[in-house]
This record gives sequence, structure tokens and C-alpha cells, in this order.
Amino acid sequence: MAEKKWVYLFNEIDEVQKTVGGDWDKVRSLLGGKGAGLADMTRANVPVPPGFTVTTEACNAYLAEGEQFPPGMWDQELVALKKVETLTGKNFGDPNNPLFVSCRSGAKFSMPGMMDTVLNIGLNDETAAGMIQKMGDSRFVYDSYRRLVEMFGSVVLGIPDEAFEEPLADYKKNRGLKLDTEMTADDWKTITEEFKTVVRREAGFDFPQDPYEQLRLATEAVFKSWNGKRAVDYRNAAGIAHDLGTAVNIVTMVFGNLGTDSGTGVAFTRDPATGENILYGDYLLNAQGEDVVAGIRNTEKIQNLNNDLPVAYQEFLDICDKLELHYRDMQDVEFTIENGKLWMLQTRTGKRTAKASVKIAVDMANEGLISRSEAILRITPEQVDTLLHPQFDTKAIDIAKKEGRYYAKGVNASPGAAVGRVYFDADTSERKAKEEHQDVIMVRPFTKPDDVHGMLAAKGILTSEGGATSHAAVVARQFGVPCVVGASEIRIDLEKLEMEVGGKVVKEGEWISVDGTSGLVFLGQTPTVAPSLEEQTDLLTLLKWADDICATLGIRKTYPGWPTKGLQVWANADYPKDARRARSYGAVGIGLCRTEHMFFEQERLPIVQKMILAETSDQRIAALDELLPYQRLDFEGLFEAMDGYPVIIRLIDPPLHEFLPSEESLLEEVITMRVKGEKVGLAKKEKLLASVKSLHESNPMLGLRGVRLSIYMPEIVEMQVRAIFEAAADQTLKGVVVKPEVMIPLTGTVKELNWIQPRLERIAKQVMQEKEVTFEYKFGTMVEIPRAAITAEEIAEVAEFFSFGTNDLTQMTFGYSRDDAERNFLIKYVEEGILPKNPFQTLDVEGVGRLMKMAVEEGRKTRVNLEVGICGEHGGDPASIEFCHLIGNNYVSCSPFRVPIARLAAAHSALKYSEMGVQVLEDK
Ligand code: ADP
Ligand code: MG
Ligand code: MG
Repeated sequence: MAEKKWVYLFNEIDEVQKTVGGDWDKVRSLLGGKGAGLADMTRANVPVPPGFTVTTEACNAYLAEGEQFPPGMWDQELVALKKVETLTGKNFGDPNNPLFVSCRSGAKFSMPGMMDTVLNIGLNDETAAGMIQKMGDSRFVYDSYRRLVEMFGSVVLGIPDEAFEEPLADYKKNRGLKLDTEMTADDWKTITEEFKTVVRREAGFDFPQDPYEQLRLATEAVFKSWNGKRAVDYRNAAGIAHDLGTAVNIVTMVFGNLGTDSGTGVAFTRDPATGENILYGDYLLNAQGEDVVAGIRNTEKIQNLNNDLPVAYQEFLDICDKLELHYRDMQDVEFTIENGKLWMLQTRTGKRTAKASVKIAVDMANEGLISRSEAILRITPEQVDTLLHPQFDTKAIDIAKKEGRYYAKGVNASPGAAVGRVYFDADTSERKAKEEHQDVIMVRPFTKPDDVHGMLAAKGILTSEGGATSHAAVVARQFGVPCVVGASEIRIDLEKLEMEVGGKVVKEGEWISVDGTSGLVFLGQTPTVAPSLEEQTDLLTLLKWADDICATLGIRKTYPGWPTKGLQVWANADYPKDARRARSYGAVGIGLCRTEHMFFEQERLPIVQKMILAETSDQRIAALDELLPYQRLDFEGLFEAMDGYPVIIRLIDPPLHEFLPSEESLLEEVITMRVKGEKVGLAKKEKLLASVKSLHESNPMLGLRGVRLSIYMPEIVEMQVRAIFEAAADQTLKGVVVKPEVMIPLTGTVKELNWIQPRLERIAKQVMQEKEVTFEYKFGTMVEIPRAAITAEEIAEVAEFFSFGTNDLTQMTFGYSRDDAERNFLIKYVEEGILPKNPFQTLDVEGVGRLMKMAVEEGRKTRVNLEVGICGEHGGDPASIEFCHLIGNNYVSCSPFRVPIARLAAAHSALKYSEMGVQVLEDK
């Protein structure tokens, strides 16, 4: 049997792809993202230094076999190294013509938190001497050598950074030097020796002189780092599986620190913060890899490279274009220029903000690089959610400036507004946020992979060093945390736990406001506002495309007569202003208007109470007559706002006692009055108390409410229906197209509908006769009691539409009262795995969902064109929306603010289950 292949040269990519059956995703699984990218670029004739990848399978085997290289792996690594020697004409460990390599980790998904890279492997006392002789530049050689000893020490041997940083700082201080660039060859030589001593002291053995030993230990260290705490934490936060393993990439060293015709940099092919189609990046001349990313030296804007090294810059631009075209997505690339010659060291799909995601997807669809469907699929509902999150009000910013609260300006690395208390390290930030529920702004000179837990817990991030591609910026963008980096005026004192700009000191725990959109930092708390959707033109375009997808006939395969378009998105709105917002957010109907909210308003509540306490039907009707004009007015505004679209109005739902004062408070008042001997008004209070007592129920949720109340006391809903139809008639006469749908809540048996609905329909017809107009209308019911779902076939004989009230349906199916469940045991249930998620947030598909599915099927047996929707909170939850698509709902209805999210989620569902395929749907 042929030996298992653990190692692939970059130029063996065709073979790799064949092995995994051609699937690029599997190539990435095997070689990791970095390895796959390097090999793919090699195939496309992009200049990549020769090298090879040890596979993720090797890593998994190593970890599974108790940290042993799998049989044959090391030998294969040595063979591959020989081939690299041939390709470069250099020899590993040969003092006369040495080959140096880097050892780089690279999992399938890029992961800050994994082992860092070790550069310059192969340097030792002999090869260093050889290089000096060959190049005549001993400063460069010792600079590289000390970097190797340091990186090897910290990364491979786990020696803390300070063990190296402190002696270097002391050395510079003693010699009166400030910058690394002032160090001479002899200085670096001394430091190299000093670093070797550090290794001996901290690790207990000498820095390995044998290049192969260096390579072997570095390879092992990468494998082990897969299970390091940082990596595990990161995977948990980013939702990456723990069994993927990491690959190891061994790459011929190219040197950016050979003088001013050399350099290194990183760039995004489009702006990762705004999405604009301009190259975005930084570089440093005479520097090696890590210098740019670490954010330690202040970098140059990538465009300036055109002045420093124009030939290399032009080639770089061409390569960037080529890579975007090839991957059809924005790329994040690393490069090094060695004596004027450009080398590409990495390409990957670039992380970006939600805003940039949308702009790039829409632009690329317009450029013809991707299809509209692909553009839609590239945006997640969560990203749309972020775009609707608060930002600083421009007025508030002006005021803050006037009040002298402007503090500093840095690079606007990740947009959004963050207001919080300042903490200066990751652990404290995490603790304050998680345990004390504080809003935290994490402030650091710069961040490193082991700061990620603090950054994730923070509302915002501020650094005084580093550029737009620094660690802080990249992580913040990925997780949507507002972030300002490189605010270099700020002096941070990590010992005193304070920062200072021009005498203004901010201490730990004090408030600041960080505007990741503008890069500005303010003292104190600055108010935020919800962003306007109208201004987000790219998002609007994308959502329009999403609607087009859902409006495609035949996109949904279902039973004859059922809807074959995707889901519509309606909104829950009680007031005209909500309805107007819903329309502007793209809702095409009102799925739930709760009429009882209108009863609570100040001038109405006394009338409502009078109505409830009425002793005769005449008294009750008199009170209701007083209420009627108010209700009519509410509905008029709603119909006007929803001109041409359906409006579902639910008749009164809650138990009556909710409109009365509580028994306890009344009792207290009555007793006080009695004790004090107050006579005035006492009798009235006592009567009220008696009524409240008589309305008392031990289980109001299961008591006199919904349709039961309507049957017990029909005058209320008769008034409501009259108000609805009078409003609809008046609006029709004004030229508005009305589509009222009257919804009867809490039906459990069709007999309830048989009793109430004809009475109400009579009123509807009567009003239309009185006003001499006709318009479309429907009477239907909420399906929120399991019995209604089970007997849907009969219910649909009377009800012309169903709307799932999934809050009550979930309560009654589980037999939980929501308030009690969430307060007492739901968290434990989720922790213990008894429930996968809170069923009040994400629909319980197996139980509640099964009832819904059945109700749709049974209902449409009776009435094939039965209109079905959902109006519970679940209507705005992407997973629940997908389920509604599958069971054949016509629409989902959610809060106006979630309408854009639901529109995207509806399109995702339509595309995911369409047999038409993503491409066929294109751009009608
Ligand atoms: P990360 O995943 O943290 O980006 P990389 O493996 O990409 O780590 O390497 C870190 C830095 O070292 C990058 O700037 C990269 O370009 C540089 N680098 C890696 N390998 C080489 C090499 N063979 N020659 C020159 N620079 C390199
Ligand atoms: Mg990199
Ligand atoms: Mg309900």
C-alpha cells in the first residue's frame, strides 16, 4: 500500500485537488486556508517563494497519537525540503549558500489565536557567519538571527515575551538608543547572544543550532497550538469546529529588511471598513513580516509605495486584480519585496465590517463578478442587524465638541458607536462586562491574540498604536465591535491604570465614547441614535433583490394551490407611526395590530373602566359608544399608512382585570380611607374593589380572555368591528385602498367562531351598506391553542385566514408560562441540554412547529387558498423564518425594526430550498 501523503509542495496543488475529488473546500480543509492560497497562487504564476504544506490530517494524527508525528511524515517533510533546495538553488544549513524558511500555522479558517509564525529558521552560528561573508552585511544577519532566537523562544518554547523585551529595552537605554534602526551590527550581535542566554535560562537547554531540530520543534509547536487555550477560546467565539486541525506551511524566506529597496506590507483589495473599491493597506520599508501587523512601528499608506518602489507596486496592483477576479471576493494579502523583487506571502478572503460586506456584495454583483443571488447569500441576517444598530447622533457629536469633550482621533477601524467605562487589560474588561454587566471600552497600546476574550466582551476598543490592519482592527471588524486604533496622542499608563492627552486624564472605570465610524474619541457618555435605512443605499438595493427573489413564481415547490412564491414580510404595528416605519422598512402588510394598547391611553382608560364596571348592557353600550370614535381614528391612520396592503386587526385579547387597578393597591387605599375616617369617595372605591375581586381569576392566562371574553361580553368586539369598518369605509371614500382583516384571538373550537363571527360579519356588512361602499375584507383567527391547530380542518370552514401566535402556542404546547419559565428554569434547561434553545426565541420545530405544519395542511384541505402567517416574536428570527417557508406560510410578521432582517432571511430560505438553482434566478 502506498504510504499516506502528509506533505504537499505548493506546486502539487493539482494532485491535491484530484485526491479530494476536485472540491476546493476540501482542499482548504486539507491544506488550511493559507496553504491552499499559497499553492493556488503558485499555480496561477503569482510569485510565491517555494515551499510546502504539512496537512491538517497530519496535525490530527499527531494529536491523536499522543503527540507523535505519524509514520512517514517527517521523512516526507525532509524530501519536500530537498525539492525546495533544488527550486531555490540553496541548501538548508549550508554555511556557504544557506536556505532559510518560515514555519507558519494555517487552519481552514483564519484564526488569530493560533501559533504565530517563526521566521528565519535555519539561522545558526555557522550559517550566520556564512551569510555575513556572502552578503557583507552583518547588521542584517544579526538582526535576523536575534529575531529567530526571540520568536523561537517565545513561540516554540513558550518563554514570555518580556524575557526578551526587557533586556533589549535595558540595552538600548544604557547605550542611549531609542529606535531599532539605530542599532548597529555589533549591537544586534550582542543581543543575539543575550537572547540565547535567555533561552538557556528559561528553557533549560540551548537554542538549537541544528536547523533540522529547529524545523522539527517548530512543526510540533504549530500542531500543539491547535489545542492551546487561545485557539480554543477563539474557536468557541467564532463557532469553528474543534476537530479541523491546523496545517503547517514551510516557506522559503524572502527578506524585506535588506535595505530601502526592500519592504513588507499587507493590503485589502477593497476597503474593509467601508467596502469602497480602493486598495487599502500599509507597508514598511526595510522591515520583516510581523512588523506591520504587530502595529509596533507606524506604517505608510500602501499608495505611497508607488513613490518608493514603482515597479513592484504596479506588479502588486496587477496581482491584486487577478486575485479578486479569481476568488470573486475581496482579498487580504501579504507581500514582501526583497531587493526590488515582489513576493506574495498570503491571500485570503478579507474580513470586513457588515457595511463593507453589503457594499462589496452589491458592487461585485453590479460588476458582474458574482450573481445577485450570491450577493444575497453572502450577507447574514445578523450583519443586517448590526447595520441597524445605534450610531452617534451628529448633533450629539457637535455638542460634545462644543463642551470640550473631544479627546483624541485615531483610525476608524471598525464602525459603530460605543459608550462605556475604560479598562486597560483583557481580563478586567471581560470580568467587568460579564460579572458586573458594565459597558466596557477596552483600551490598550495595541492588542495581541491573547486579548481576544476581553475584546469580545467589550462594547468598544481603543488603541494608541497600530494601523487599520493591526490585530485590534482585524478582530474588531470581524466581530462587529466598534474600534478606533492608532490614536497616537494618547499616553497610556498601564501601571497607574490611566491614560492622558494634553493633561486630560481618564482613569480606569471612567466613561468615554468611541466612534468607530469617524475615529473620534470623546470624554463621557455621548447619546446614540438608530441609523436611517434610507441612507443605506447599498443595503436597500440588496433588500430589493431579496424581495425579487421571494417574488419569483415557482421558487417554492409545494402542493397545488399553495403559494409558490417565497415569504412576504409583514410587520406587527399598533399605531400609525409604527405602520409608517414598517412600510419604510419594506413591510407589505400588518400582521398584527393589538387593539387593547389603545385602551390604555390616558383619556381612554377611565371610559374603558366605566365600560367594564357597567351594571347593565345599556350602560356598557353607552361607554363603548364613547370609545368608538377613538378606535375609528386609530384604524383610519393605520389604513392610510398601509394604503393598498392588508392590515390584520386583532380583537380584544387580554383579561379585563388588566384594565383595572390591582386588588392589593385598591384594598390598601380603602383600608387607609377607613382608618382615617375619610368618607368622600369611599363608597366608589369599595364598589370598584368588589368588582375587581369578582373579576379575579386564579389563572388569568387560561381564563376569561380572547374569544371567550367576546362571547361573554360581545358588545366590546361589536364596537371594535364597527370602528374598523367605519374607518375602512371612510378611508375608501377618500381613495385609500383598504384590506382589513379581522382576527379573532384564542380560538379553541370552531363553535366559538360559529357563535361570534356571523354577528361580526353582519356588522361589517351593515356598515358598508350605511356608507355605501364595498371593499375586500377577511375574518380569520389566531392559531395559538393546540386544539385549534389540531382541529384546523374544521376551523378553516369559518376562518378565512390563520395567524400563528407562537408565544401563546409555545406556552400552551409546553405548558410553560413564559414569565415563570424564563425566570426560573429555562436557562438551566438549556444548559443541561434538555432544550436546545429558548423556545420563546427560536421556534421549537419538533413540537410547536409540528402543530403548525399540521394546522397549515389541515386548514388548506378545507380552504386551499387559506392565508397563513405568523405574528409571534418568532416572525423575526431567521431560523423560525426558514421553518415558516418550509411549511407553506404566506408571510411572516415581526417588529418593524426586524423587517429588513426578515426580508433577507426570507430570501435565504427561498434560495436554499429552490430547485431553480442560484444561477438560473439571475437578473431578470
Ligand atoms: P499570520 O497568520 O499571523 O498572518 P503569517 O504566517 O502570515 O502569520 O506570518 C506572519 C508574518 O511573517 C507575515 O507578515 C508574513 O508575510 C511574514 N512571513 C511569513 N513567511 C515569510 C517568509 N517566508 N518570508 C518573509 N516573510 C514571511
Ligand atoms: Mg499572515
Ligand atoms: Mg396570544
